[in-house]
Amino acid sequence: MNTPLLEARRLTRSFPVGGLLSRERRTVLRDVSFTLERGETVALVGESGSGKSTLARLLARLDTPDAGDLRLGGEDVLARSGRAASLAYRGRVQMVFQDPFASLNPVHTVAYHLERSLLRHRRASGADLTPRVHALLESVGLTPAEQLARRFPHELSGGQRQRVAVARALAVEPEVIIADEPTSMLDVSTRRGVLQLLKGLTRERGIGILFITHDLASAHHLADRVLVLYAGSVVETGPTREVLRTPRHPYTRLLLSAVPDGADFLRTPLPARTPAGPAPPLGCAFAPRCPHADVRCHDAAPPLHLPAAEHLVRCHLESSKGVADDAAVPS
Ligand code: SF4
Repeated sequence: MNTPLLEARRLTRSFPVGGLLSRERRTVLRDVSFTLERGETVALVGESGSGKSTLARLLARLDTPDAGDLRLGGEDVLARSGRAASLAYRGRVQMVFQDPFASLNPVHTVAYHLERSLLRHRRASGADLTPRVHALLESVGLTPAEQLARRFPHELSGGQRQRVAVARALAVEPEVIIADEPTSMLDVSTRRGVLQLLKGLTRERGIGILFITHDLASAHHLADRVLVLYAGSVVETGPTREVLRTPRHPYTRLLLSAVPDGADFLRTPLPARTPAGPAPPLGCAFAPRCPHADVRCHDAAPPLHLPAAEHLVRCHLESSKGVADDAAVPS
């Protein structure tokens, strides 16, 4: 069996409630497992507050999990710490943030941002820098590169700024890009261009992309596999086409109902939405919003079930099917 490019196993993260000294903690991520292969795009979808950004920060090593494993090319990432380890990791795993304006320094030109990454990770120096900057800009569709390189962030459109952010990530020649809501601040036409750019990168360079989004339509367009996160847990995962055509979890179906053209790929009836309330302490976190919730949903957390090949669902409705091991989510 091939070693996955990136593998998360049972990542868990909690934060203190009511200040850093408080003993009470709220679990934001619970036992999250998945794999990302070379040249693959995995979409991590969920509403705001589902734990997506916390997971992105853990994977980018901007934060450390309370428990769980993280492996890159089979190497135990969490076993190493310090600046050298951090720099080496960032040379392999890059992040593209939601707000390209905030992630670019307004007092520096586009060329400065790209040169800085090239120098920091020793990908180019001296006379090689300028041609490399121009080649990077051309690779993300920013031409004429000589002109664009001299511009400041405020002289670019939102789509151009996000392409610069992608070019900066590419300067490092990463194996993995974590794209955290990279198109959510762009208009629809610009969004499509950035999605096409990311899709091309997986094909041409074999980069694995973890695409974090609240937008199932974008996930449908871009991703090979989908991971649906609710209240910090994976509730459904599988091939994108399979999950979006035959969603099994009521939460996935609820997300699909919010997609304007969701009917194009949704083949099952939607449940009615019910008002949210406090989640039962022992049961399913989605129970207060779920129209199918019954006694067992309030009494016991649902395990993972495998209703179809590579399609996993965390819901008691699937309990007649086989039960999967949580750690088997990556497969
Ligand atoms: Fe709804 Fe119960 Fe399934 Fe949770 S386990 S999603 S409450 S049916």
